[in-house]
Amino acid sequence: MKVDLHCHSYYSDGKHSPAFLISRAIANHLTLLAITDHDCTAAFGNAADSDRRIELICGVEISCSWQGKEIHIVGLCIDPLQPHLVQLLTQQQSSRYARMLQMDEKLQALGITGLAEYCSSLPCQSYTRSHVANFLVEQGISKNHQKAFKKFLGKRGRIYVDNNWCDMAEAIDTIHAAHGLAVLSHPGRYPLGKRQLEVLLDDFTSAQGDALEVSYGNIDPLTKAKLCELASSRQLYYSVGSDFHDDDAHWTDVGKFPPLDAIAEKNAIWEHPGWHS
Ligand code: AMP
Ligand code: MN
Ligand code: MN
Ligand code: MN
Repeated sequence: MKVDLHCHSYYSDGKHSPAFLISRAIANHLTLLAITDHDCTAAFGNAADSDRRIELICGVEISCSWQGKEIHIVGLCIDPLQPHLVQLLTQQQSSRYARMLQMDEKLQALGITGLAEYCSSLPCQSYTRSHVANFLVEQGISKNHQKAFKKFLGKRGRIYVDNNWCDMAEAIDTIHAAHGLAVLSHPGRYPLGKRQLEVLLDDFTSAQGDALEVSYGNIDPLTKAKLCELASSRQLYYSVGSDFHDDDAHWTDVGKFPPLDAIAEKNAIWEHPGWHS
């Protein structure tokens, strides 16, 4: 089955509209698509005239904290109007907004003005450091995203502001309260050693997490095989997604990641008893 269960629209830090993502998914012969913006479900409500050729799943990617480290949990098949979920996402969005204003102040102290105005001109509902990187590149202050992150936005950057994300268990519980399934996103991308990743997976499993993202853009076959093993040994289902943000990055596309083979598809998250559209 050709699917993509992780990508971003311009309601968070993606470049494109939900309509663009849906038409790209259809052009790439996908049958199932979830738009999973950072702490935001606006894409689902704004894709109302969804095309019958593809099934759109309501999704989100929640930033959260585990043992003081930032990790991401994707929620799939969620009810975007469920009050606990609405409350959590509203809280995360306000703290993202407050952080953006703090970064604006820090930029002003460096003589760089206009971040808040730039952000308010965007369709975005959930501000990320990626928006600040875009601003710095557009202003000609940074050459590209990587440089903006290194000099300004990374942990040691000049305008870095920490964030109080919710706890991992709270993210999982809230996704379940909203009748969804919880997926641990891109496990190979966290700065964790092998043993720490296993502890994270154990905690995620104990907290009733449902699935592990075992394939995503640019993953190598060895990591994918290892992730499938780590998931299977904990009875976690497999999820997959491109984490597509932007058409300008030519290596990425909606639906582009190493697919599951027919045997692995038996453990795919869309086979989970709690899966629904
Ligand atoms: P935030 O959730 O506000 O901390 O923003 C993080 C977003 O910025 C991620 O979802 C990525 O899309 C992007 N990002 C994070 N680190 C980097 C990096 N080193 N270079 C470019 N983009 C990054
Ligand atoms: Mn992002
Ligand atoms: Mn992520
Ligand atoms: Mn993502």
